Amino acid sequence: MQFDENLIRNVVSQVLAEVGPMPTTDGSVALRPDSAPASAGQHGIFYDAESAVAAAREAFEQLRRGTMEDRKQIIEIIRRISIAQCEELGLMEMDETQVGRPEHKIEKLRTLGERSPGVEMLETKAFSGDHGLAIIERAPFGVIAAITPVTHSLPTITGNAVSMIAGGNAVVVNPHPSGKRVAAEGVRRFNEAIYREVGIDNLICVIAEPTLESADALFKHRDVALICVTGGPAVGRAALNSGKRAIVAGPGNPPVVIDETADLDNAARCIIQGASYDNNLLCIAEKEVFVVESVFDAMMEAMRRAGAVQLNAAQIDALTAKAITTAGDDHHHVAAKELIGKNASVLAAAAGVQVPDSTELVFGETDENHPFVSVEQMMPFVPFVRARDVDHAIALAKHYEHGFRHTAIIHSRNVRNMTKMGRELDTTLYIKNGPSMASLGLGGEGYLSFSIAGPTGEGVTNPNTFTRERRCSMIDELRVI
Ligand code: NAD
Repeated sequence: MQFDENLIRNVVSQVLAEVGPMPTTDGSVALRPDSAPASAGQHGIFYDAESAVAAAREAFEQLRRGTMEDRKQIIEIIRRISIAQCEELGLMEMDETQVGRPEHKIEKLRTLGERSPGVEMLETKAFSGDHGLAIIERAPFGVIAAITPVTHSLPTITGNAVSMIAGGNAVVVNPHPSGKRVAAEGVRRFNEAIYREVGIDNLICVIAEPTLESADALFKHRDVALICVTGGPAVGRAALNSGKRAIVAGPGNPPVVIDETADLDNAARCIIQGASYDNNLLCIAEKEVFVVESVFDAMMEAMRRAGAVQLNAAQIDALTAKAITTAGDDHHHVAAKELIGKNASVLAAAAGVQVPDSTELVFGETDENHPFVSVEQMMPFVPFVRARDVDHAIALAKHYEHGFRHTAIIHSRNVRNMTKMGRELDTTLYIKNGPSMASLGLGGEGYLSFSIAGPTGEGVTNPNTFTRERRCSMIDELRVI
């Protein structure tokens, strides 16, 4: 007899919802206030869009009846778990996804717990005049559908959850299938603690067996008020075609320009730090470097001095054969899955070179037409290209950023060159004289989020991103001055 796995799961989830809360990991049973909805006790784990959205909707209604203090408390719980359990959850993510570096998986969860902006970021505006008072406040949308990438499965959920709940919303996540287990486990832990301490379950729901169909069902669900996707071009297109408002945190291919005035040793340290972080999985990470001819050789030397390992032309060819493949009817170049997010030592071995596992980055000279320049490689090999002068370097950077308007970096002491590049590339993030992650508040000013919405213009997402503007007007009164 043939069983429909999804049907069985749904029946099990309904039965669990009816019999009440599941035991917590410490053996105790979660509190279930009398007023709690039937889905309480699921701790956010669902197998279909319909029941996940229904539970999130109930959680949203409960949150709506609560106070700002409740929101703060919920965010504190998420922060506490992200920080205290970053090692266990980070290693779980590494184990499941097999991309990136364990120490950075851990660090990402910890820093998100520490630095994602909360309710303090919500803006209220007031207009006061002869005709009274108008207050503009930020109201929630309701239930948000989020899609998250394999490159930061639980970190993206964590940052999204903090921002979205700070804005007063609930969220249903369709995670990348290759990061679904850590997504579900993190969400379960967050909800379990929130339910125990605040009495609301399912504020963050996850589709435990995510598919393109479950993403589509979320996009189309009448109770989903807003979509937020973080990923490559396909998911961005799907979200924008959904007919709903979508916040799209799309792909990047961040170029670096180095002019003749740059501090080359600082540039080398910054490129290594940014391009090797989590083995170059960050969408903001340095992906290709354009150096003006007059300092090109000195820059390559600075990279070697700073600890990166240079590959020669034959070695780069050997690596390219394994690291770059083709896809689609037009056979366009893409990064080979087998090498995405792998260690620099693995890339070096693919190039026929043995280097210590502690090597952070491999690099080498290519011409501008090399696929490593145009492809978002997401691996710790960075191509360096000679440019005639800074104008040429900026033109190349603009071309190979592909118009994503995501992230660009310059190393220079010439303010005119900085200005010129900033104007030309018109990117959401533009970093001068630092590593890419400094633009997310990790070594620079500003706040942290792992969803950077370039195509739809919201920028580094924060609680305000996930709110609707509402105006409350008092006519001719309450101006008391
Ligand atoms: P991906 O595009 O393969 O997948 C991202 C998510 O979209 C996954 O959950 C996937 O299942 C889903 N998806 C893909 N096609 C879909 C469709 N047609 N309908 C619905 N869902 C769909 O990307 P990835 O490998 O997981 O992550 C890396 C990519 O994400 C890179 O391009 C990177 O630049 C980008 N990214 C962007 C940001 C940002 O803030 N802008 C942050 C992280 C990653």
